[in-house]
Amino acid sequence: MEDLQEEFDLTYVIIAHDLSVVRYVSDRVAVMYLGKIVELADAEALYNAPMHPYTVALMSAVPVPDTRRRQERERILLTGDVPSPIAPPPACRFHTRCWKAQEICRTEEPPLVELLPRHQVACHFPENYPDEAADEC
Ligand code: SF4
Repeated sequence: MEDLQEEFDLTYVIIAHDLSVVRYVSDRVAVMYLGKIVELADAEALYNAPMHPYTVALMSAVPVPDTRRRQERERILLTGDVPSPIAPPPACRFHTRCWKAQEICRTEEPPLVELLPRHQVACHFPENYPDEAADEC
């Protein structure tokens, strides 16, 4: 696939659930929840410092070969059922399962905005966001 990409200057769109594979083959990664993009970033940035809580939860489930790092890492288990994509929750679609949800998450849909260069996130309370940057919002 890489040879073909180079030869014909191709762009691939790969849809997958296995985040280890996604990391290996992707330059840019879009994370979707119930049909909406919640985070879009370069793969390196997304894997090193995910900002949307759903992405953070997904990353916490990726297998880590290093035993020490695996023990240090906190696994985030989402509670509740996945809502129906036919009738998603209002405002932030992730609010019924998000451990950071507050009232605004239930009433105002967070827009997908570029919080860092080439790193867009749809969340009122993103993770891994510098404190000084949050103060400017
Ligand atoms: S907007 Fe609120 S509910 Fe949605 S992901 Fe962010 S913190 Fe969680």
